[in-house]
Amino acid sequence: MKENKIAIRVDDLTVAYNYKPVLWDIDLKVPEGVMMAIVGPNGAGKSTLIKSILGIVKPIAGSVSVFEKPYKKQRKLVAYVPQKGSVDWDFPTTAKDVVLMGTYGHLGWVKRPGLKEKKAALEALEKVGMLPFKDRQISQLSGGQQQRVFLARALVQDASIYFMDEPFQGVDATTEIAIINILKELRKTGKTLIVVHHDLQTVPEYFDWVTFVNVKKIATGPVKDVFNDDNLTKTYGINYKVAVNK
Ligand code: ADP
Repeated sequence: MKENKIAIRVDDLTVAYNYKPVLWDIDLKVPEGVMMAIVGPNGAGKSTLIKSILGIVKPIAGSVSVFEKPYKKQRKLVAYVPQKGSVDWDFPTTAKDVVLMGTYGHLGWVKRPGLKEKKAALEALEKVGMLPFKDRQISQLSGGQQQRVFLARALVQDASIYFMDEPFQGVDATTEIAIINILKELRKTGKTLIVVHHDLQTVPEYFDWVTFVNVKKIATGPVKDVFNDDNLTKTYGINYKVAVNK
């Protein structure tokens, strides 16, 4: 098998809020083309790990690279769907405009989106089943619909690596299937997906790679090798029966 490139490399990463470490000495190598779940209990540092890779949170030690270069130089290769609760939904803007914002990274500061960008935005909305809602204010959409709009925004960015912070939070079963199908399609085209995920039951079905975090990195690797009772117990502190052998 061909040796994949390293999409994300994290070395000795330590992050603290108000001097309290929430991530401790994390090393991580994520190969290109995997679909990786980040799992761990509430407050384990999963969101913080993503935010520090994206330069949103500053680490107190360690380094991160995206395809072996600093994130700052690779911004355009990365798309991020933040956690739903962290977005100001009252912001007066339509679904279409939220998606159009995803194209700005490619345009630079002065250019405005043109026909090409508008067409891409409508296509992405169609893909996530939200075209009929294109002119609706985002504050007037349901949680699952808002999540789909943000996924569409990430799609128009045409990135190489997609970070998503709990994309299935508060969405119905139909939306969850729609989202996972889009993610699997992205993986088929060689994209790398890194997803904070809550539902341990669906890890083996949705993902091929997994990282266990609880302040420290407990384990990382192919789901078939590391998604086991031992790592679940080390991460969650109680004995977890794994669904994999069912
Ligand atoms: P997870 O995503 O695994 O639930 P987080 O990365 O959100 O965990 O948070 C890790 C820890 O850091 C938690 O104890 C949380 O309360 C704390 N934390 C997160 N963000 C901040 C912040 N901006 N300021 C202070 N503490 C924070």
